Amino acid sequence: DSCHVLVCGGAGYIGAHAAYALAHQGFEVSVLDNLSTGHREALRWGRWVAADLLKPDTLDAAFERPVDAVMHFAARSLVGESVAAPYDYYRHNVVGSLNLLQAMQRHGVGRLVFSSTAAVYGEPDSASIGEAHRTDPINPYGASKLMVERMLADAAQAYGLRSVSLRYFNAAGAAAHAGIGESHYPETHLIPNVLRAALGEAQALQVFGDDYDTVDGTCVRDYIHVLDLADAHIRALRWLDTTPGAHRFNLGNGQGFSVLQVIRAAEAIAGRRIPYSVAPRRAGDPPVLVAASDAARSLLGWVPRYTRLEDIIDSAWQWHSAPAF
Ligand code: UDP
Repeated sequence: DSCHVLVCGGAGYIGAHAAYALAHQGFEVSVLDNLSTGHREALRWGRWVAADLLKPDTLDAAFERPVDAVMHFAARSLVGESVAAPYDYYRHNVVGSLNLLQAMQRHGVGRLVFSSTAAVYGEPDSASIGEAHRTDPINPYGASKLMVERMLADAAQAYGLRSVSLRYFNAAGAAAHAGIGESHYPETHLIPNVLRAALGEAQALQVFGDDYDTVDGTCVRDYIHVLDLADAHIRALRWLDTTPGAHRFNLGNGQGFSVLQVIRAAEAIAGRRIPYSVAPRRAGDPPVLVAASDAARSLLGWVPRYTRLEDIIDSAWQWHSAPAF
C-alpha cells in the first residue's frame, strides 16, 4: 500500500526535488502549487492540484484522494524582500500555512514536514548553531517561519498533529540529470548569481558587504545540497510514523564558506574568472550561519552525501550551463 504525500509548493526549487525523490522511492505524489513562483516544467512527478493557500476553499481538491502526509514548501523565501514587504510574508507564510493546517484537519491528515529556516535564529552567538540555540529572527522571513513552528507545537498539544520542522541552512545544487534545478525570478541567491555571472548572463556580481567580522569580511554560510534536503524530508516523514509531537531539526553540512570562498570555488569549476564588485551590506543578513545537525543525523539517520562545496557547486553548474527552465 503506497503512501500518498501531498507536496505543497512542489513546483518550486526544494519542493520539486522532494517530489522527485519521493516518486523515486515509490511514494504516490500530489503537488499543490499555484505557480506564483514555481515552474510548470518542474511538475514532473505526481498529479498537480492548482490550488492557492490563501484561498482556503480551493484546498479541498488536494485531499480528494486520501492524503497520508503533507510536505509544506510553499512560501515566500527572500530575506531582503521580507524586510521591505513584511505583510506579504506574514500573509503568505503564516496565514497560508494556517489555511493548510486547517485543511489537513478537515481531512484528518496528521503528519507534516515543514520547511523552516536557519533564519529563525537571527544573529547567532556561537560559531555553530544547534536547535537549542535561542530563536530571535532579525527579519520578517525568519519571524514568519518561527510563527508557523509555534503553531505546529500548539497543534501537537491540542490536536495531536505530528510534525517535523526542518531548519535549512543554505539550500544549493540541483538534480540536473532529472531536469530540475534552481530558477528564481529575480534570482537573489549567491550560487546561482555567481554561476550566471560566470556564464555572462547576469549583470556584474555584487558582494553584499566585505566588512563583516569574518575570515575575509564577507558573510559565511553553510551550503547544503537540495537532494540531501529532500532525503531528510523523507526520513522525517517515516520517523513520524512512530513519533508523536512537534520536532525541529537543523539541516546543514556543519561547515561555513564565505561569499569570496564560494566565488573562488565556482571559478575553479567554471574554469574562468568571475568578476564582482563590493556593494553595501544587504538588510537582514547575519554575518555567520553554520549548522550543528547532530540531531538529524542521530535521530533521522540522515547523512548528507554532498559534503564538499565543490560537489554542490558542480551540480549547480551542470544545471545552470543548460537549464530546462
Ligand atoms: N550574496 C551576495 N551577492 C549575491 C547574493 C548573495 O553577496 O548576489 C550574499 C548574501 O548577502 C549572503 C550570502 O551571499 O551573505 C548568501 O545569500 P543567499 O541570498 O544565497 O542566501 P541567504 O543566506 O540569504 O538565505
